[in-house]
Amino acid sequence: MKRVHFAIIGAGTAGLATAILLARQGHQITIFEQVNELCPVGAGLLLQPAGLAVFEHLGVLDHTLKLGAKVTGLEGQLADKRLLVNSHYHQAGSNFYGIGIHRATLCHVLTEKLAEYANQITWCMGHSIDQVEERHNEVRLTGSYQQQNFDTCFDAVLIANGARSQLRPKAWVKVDQAYPWGAAWSIVPECTVLDPKILHQFYDRSKIMMGVLPTGAIPSAPQQRLSSVFWSLPTSQLSTFLQDEQAKQHWLKQVSLRWPNVADWLEQLLWSEQHQPQWLSAQYRDVVMSQYGQGRIGVIGDAAHAMSPQLGQGANMALLDAWAFSQSLQTAQKNQQIDWTILWQQYHQHRRSSTQFYQFLSRLLTPLYQSDHWWVGGLRDLVFPWLYQIPYFRKEMAITISGLKTGMFQQMSYQQIAAYQHNQNVLIENNQSLPEYD
Ligand SMILES: Cc1cc2nc3c(=O)[nH]c(=O)nc-3n(C[C@H](O)[C@H](O)[C@H](O)COP(=O)(O)OP(=O)(O)OC[C@H]3O[C@@H](n4cnc5c(N)ncnc54)[C@H](O)[C@@H]3O)c2cc1C
Repeated sequence: MKRVHFAIIGAGTAGLATAILLARQGHQITIFEQVNELCPVGAGLLLQPAGLAVFEHLGVLDHTLKLGAKVTGLEGQLADKRLLVNSHYHQAGSNFYGIGIHRATLCHVLTEKLAEYANQITWCMGHSIDQVEERHNEVRLTGSYQQQNFDTCFDAVLIANGARSQLRPKAWVKVDQAYPWGAAWSIVPECTVLDPKILHQFYDRSKIMMGVLPTGAIPSAPQQRLSSVFWSLPTSQLSTFLQDEQAKQHWLKQVSLRWPNVADWLEQLLWSEQHQPQWLSAQYRDVVMSQYGQGRIGVIGDAAHAMSPQLGQGANMALLDAWAFSQSLQTAQKNQQIDWTILWQQYHQHRRSSTQFYQFLSRLLTPLYQSDHWWVGGLRDLVFPWLYQIPYFRKEMAITISGLKTGMFQQMSYQQIAAYQHNQNVLIENNQSLPEYD
C-alpha cells in the first residue's frame, strides 16, 4: 500500500484521534489548527463506553484512567427528590463504565500518543483554513498564517474543525442551526456532597437543569480532583449569568429551594477566597448532513454532526468517526491504491445509522429538558418514571447512553471496536520502503 499524505483541519478530539490512527497505518499527516497553542479551554465531558472502546483501540485508556474520573452512572433528580433518570453502565454491559475528563486532559492524552509518530506528523499551528477544493487526484487548501495567505495540496483532506465549520461542503448540509438554549459552566474543586462516581443532574420542569460531573484532574495538577458544574439557560441570558451579588443570591435561592445540600456546596464555592469559579458559556449547534465524504474530502466530528450535549455523545461520536475512517481506509486499499468510493461506502455503513439515531434522539429529548413550554417537562416527569419500571427500557436506556446504539434494535460491539492487532498494518512494518502516493 502506498503512503497517503492527509491534511486534517482541526486538532480537536476528532482530528487528533484520526491523526493517531492514520499515522499508525503508516500515512503522513499534516494537522492545521487555527489557534497557536493547544490549551483547550472547555468544560469537562463524559467519555461513554463507546468512546472508551476507541481509547482502548488507540492504546490510551490506561493513561486516561489515571487522570480521569471513573463514572458508573447517571442520576437525574427532580425538585421533589424523585429520580427521573437512573441509568447505570452495568445495565448495558457488566464491565462498562464512563470517564469524566477535563478537555485539557483529553487533549494531553491524545497528543502524547501522537508524539510516538512524530516523524509522520507535521503540525501547522496558528494556520486557519478557509477553503477546501478537490482537483484531479489532490485537494487544495487555502488559508492564512500570521496574516499571510497560503495554499497547499494534499492527497486527501479531513475537515474536523468543529460545530461552527464553514468548510463542510454546502451541498451536503441539510440542517445547520444554533440551539436557542446553552449552558453556563465552571470547573471547580471536586464536589464532596454528592457521589463522585455519578454524573448528577437536577431538573425542574424544562426550565431548570443543572449538572455536576466528576472531571478528574489536569496533568499539571494531578492531585487536585475537579468537578464541572453546568447551569442551563436560554442563550440570550448566558452573558449576564451571575453578573452581580444579587444575581448570585437569586441563583442560590433557586437551587436551595429544590436541592439544599447542593446549594450549600455552591454557596461555599461562590464566596470562596481560594477558588472563585470562572463561569463560561457554551452554545450548541444542530448540524445534519446527507453524507460525510466523497472522493478525497471527508467531514468528521462536530463538523459533521454537531448536536446538543444532552445525551453526552459528541466526543464519543468524534472518536467513533476516527475509528470508522481508519477501518474503512484499510478495507478500501486495493492494488497499492485507495478506492475512495469503497472507502466512503464503508464509512457510511459504519457511521450513518448510529449518527442518525443519536441525532434523532437528541432532537427529541433536548426540548424535554430545555424549553419554554411548561407542559413538556410535566409530560416528561409523568412518562419517564413509568418507563423506568420496565427492565427492557432500563437496559436500552443504559445502552443508548453508552453510545453503542446503531438504531432502535441494533448496537455495536465494544470488543469489536476496542480490538487492535499490532500486525494488521503492513505499512508500519515496511515504513522505510514505502513509495509515495500518486
Ligand atoms: C458544554 C458542553 C458539554 C459537552 N459534554 C459532552 C459530554 O459529556 N460527552 C461528549 O461526548 N461530548 C460532550 N460535548 C461535545 C464535545 O465536546 C464535542 O462533540 C467534541 O469536542 C467535538 O470534537 P471535534 O474534534 O469534532 O471539534 P472541536 O473539539 O470543536 O475541535 C475543532 C478544532 O478545529 C479548530 N478549527 C476551527 N476552525 C478552523 C479552521 N478554519 N482552520 C483550522 N482549525 C480550525 C478549532 O480551533 C478546534 O481546535 C459537550 C459539548 C459542550 C459544549
